[in-house]
Amino acid sequence: MDVASLQNLQSEIEEEYGEKISALRRDIHREPELGFDTKKTAEKVLAALEGLPLDIETGVAENGIVATLKGGGDGPTVGLRADMDALPITEETGLDFASEIEGKMHACGHDGHTSMLVGAAHALCGMRDGLDGTVRFIFQPAEEGGGGGEVMVEEGVAEGLDSIFALHLWPGLPFGTVATKAGPIMAAADAFEMEIKGTGGHGAMPHLSADAVVIAAQVVIALQTVVSREVDPVEPAVLTVGEIGAGTAFNVIPEKARIGGTVRTLNEDLRQKMPERIEALARGVSRGMRGDATLDYRFSYPVTRNDAGVSANALKVAVGLFGEDSVLELPNPSMGAEDFAYFLQRIPGAFVWLGVGEDVSGLHTPQFAFDEKILPRGSALLTALALRQHAA
Ligand SMILES: [Zn+2]
Ligand SMILES: [Zn+2]
Repeated sequence: MDVASLQNLQSEIEEEYGEKISALRRDIHREPELGFDTKKTAEKVLAALEGLPLDIETGVAENGIVATLKGGGDGPTVGLRADMDALPITEETGLDFASEIEGKMHACGHDGHTSMLVGAAHALCGMRDGLDGTVRFIFQPAEEGGGGGEVMVEEGVAEGLDSIFALHLWPGLPFGTVATKAGPIMAAADAFEMEIKGTGGHGAMPHLSADAVVIAAQVVIALQTVVSREVDPVEPAVLTVGEIGAGTAFNVIPEKARIGGTVRTLNEDLRQKMPERIEALARGVSRGMRGDATLDYRFSYPVTRNDAGVSANALKVAVGLFGEDSVLELPNPSMGAEDFAYFLQRIPGAFVWLGVGEDVSGLHTPQFAFDEKILPRGSALLTALALRQHAA
């Protein structure tokens, strides 16, 4: 392939590697693995990279892979990262290559990301003579909780990189559209669990108890005011109570109730203030009702923050490849989260969404499926991003 002209990159990749990319994707899709436990997926990736002129390191962050391609010159080192893990969901797509493992499914497209990165590795190895610097292909476990990205960074995977990119397939965006933005693109995602403590008793004698169910209900309602009444209206924030539980019998007032939730923010100062506000409100409400509350707050993935220059350049590269109509500068971030954030804390880079269509079921649903024509397109984009990162 000719490095100077990338216009036909997608069709060339489709022709040369399309079948291989799609076969790998289906193979990974059939046998999803969770968290850090991506051993078989990593073996499939290694088999698909066999014969390429790559220095390969395995066992990174348990079952991750880092494969390095050295080009001719001493140009920049560009990282390309894909996630490999699946979700604890039972698939309902009806695809011929649907998950063969009950309760596990690639419902976030990470099978696609991994295959697209393998496609880019093949394309870039084929263009090695025209490659001025180094490309590091990073296959990461445990994106869906577990923070595999953080572990990879701790193990030194980001060291020496000049820039880094990751793609995510994106339902809701027109098929093939490339979208990103400068600054925050995904939110910080933190979690809390709260125990409400009252006094248990007979369902017929509430005056002798402090009803943890009623206290929990009031706390849930009060928590709705944290974002609406305490956060600047122009500052994005979400507080969702996703879990609530109490009680063992219809006629017993339980002593305890449990509430669990997630908090999403884009601003670090606000993020740091949230636990104190949640705890003060929950305890105030609970104590006013003769109970109390304790909060266990866990900071998790930080804000995924794109570098302004690198993300602008990524949009330019996408326009060069696919034309203006296929490229979108996002007006707003998503309040979802992504552990690619840990790489972007160290290295200027961009997290880029690749549309799989507006009528596609959402990420993390049992029906999520996408047209595999997107795979060579994603490979072409990763390839061009690595080649053109430092071009004007
Ligand atoms: Zn996901
Ligand atoms: Zn994902």
